[in-house]
Amino acid sequence: MAHTSQSVVIIGGAIVGSSIAYFLRELGFSGKISVVESDPTYQQSSTALSAAAIRTQFGTPVNIRMSVFGAHFFRTIKDRFGERADIGFVERGYLILGGPEAVEVRRAAAQMQRQEGADVTALTAEELAQHFPWLNVEDLGVATTAWRDEGWFDAWSLLSLIRTAARERGVSYIKGRAEHVVLSGGRVVGVKLSDGTQIPTDWCVNAAGAASASVVRGIGIALPVSARKRTVFNIKAPLTRDGFPMLFDTSGAWIRPEGEGFICGIAPPEHNDPDATGDYEPAHELLEEMLWPALAHRVPALEQLRVERAWAGHYEVNTLDHNGIIGPHDEIPNLIFATGFSGHGVMHAPATGRGVAELITRGQYVEIDLSPLGFGRVRTGTPLHETVVY
Ligand SMILES: Cc1cc2nc3c(=O)[nH]c(=O)nc-3n(C[C@H](O)[C@H](O)[C@H](O)COP(=O)(O)OP(=O)(O)OC[C@H]3O[C@@H](n4cnc5c(N)ncnc54)[C@H](O)[C@@H]3O)c2cc1C
Repeated sequence: MAHTSQSVVIIGGAIVGSSIAYFLRELGFSGKISVVESDPTYQQSSTALSAAAIRTQFGTPVNIRMSVFGAHFFRTIKDRFGERADIGFVERGYLILGGPEAVEVRRAAAQMQRQEGADVTALTAEELAQHFPWLNVEDLGVATTAWRDEGWFDAWSLLSLIRTAARERGVSYIKGRAEHVVLSGGRVVGVKLSDGTQIPTDWCVNAAGAASASVVRGIGIALPVSARKRTVFNIKAPLTRDGFPMLFDTSGAWIRPEGEGFICGIAPPEHNDPDATGDYEPAHELLEEMLWPALAHRVPALEQLRVERAWAGHYEVNTLDHNGIIGPHDEIPNLIFATGFSGHGVMHAPATGRGVAELITRGQYVEIDLSPLGFGRVRTGTPLHETVVY
């Protein structure tokens, strides 16, 4: 059934929540839209702290389609938001490296990605050495990259554009903390804020990022989304940024150009990656212990580097399978999730916004079928494992 004139409360007003509000209006939703945001400065939002990159190289087909949609959205940003709209989109491939043992698997993955609409190519070690002379290829067998729909951008500018457009179309941003969701007769009837206010609603969307599990804990839903700390180091190094890709090493280390230097990072070891709710202290030790050795091995020029600054944000990790959870709760049809993106939520925000808006206004997915990412798999404990995880 189509709904275009009811009311919607979106919990969380960063890139995912704002994209949903924006697309609701795009699709003709004329009812009241309230976005509840506890921190309108967005200082600790994952969106503002992210590496703001987009890739089409995923193991899960629906993620690839969402990225292609996102890249198109970024490329055509001026068509939507006007000539002055600029998110600094640098369209340049991720370069994901693999050892000799990975050649067959990676070639097959590239073929699957092409079938889903991505433009991914596999390179041999010889081709790599030719294209990227600063790279140590001695222990490599393969690399994959995409000739379009990958790159990086400015997430803050993207959020500002989408949020401003939503506000201009009458979306209300309310400063407040959603304490819990109020149920009656198996449906959400309101959202209770920590100041005691209750906002009545026909629909509730949980887009609270790394905090989204806490929003529904009070109504007995165990959402497998956990805040995991990821540190980004901003460095200077004697290395050209011209043509330098978003490089992903076999060690898990990543690096890309940013401003006058580079940003880089690495995930902590799995056994030392607890829920980090409230902890935004950069994990400086990762640089010496893991990141620098890996980078210097792969790019010898990075033996010399200077750290300019470091920051830490939270991945909203879906501990079931590292994929987004998008769609209604199976028993509470007007409670919709848009969370758990596990490190790819900015790139997938446009497709998520569009998809959730379709669900509410059209009663079904139209542009991309996001149902593989539905809540059902959480209920049954049936993971849809994403294999390309960083
Ligand atoms: C270091 C790092 C690098 C990353 N790199 C990339 C990348 O290259 N590409 C990519 O696509 N993604 C990347 N990500 C992931 C990406 O940032 C997230 O997936 C994305 O920002 C999720 O957006 P969101 O709007 O759901 O969450 P957030 O940006 O975290 O927003 C959630 C909002 O909800 C608000 N909120 C929380 N609880 C409540 C409540 N109870 N009531 C009201 N408001 C509430 C918060 O204040 C916050 O503003 C990275 C993340 C990090 C930390």
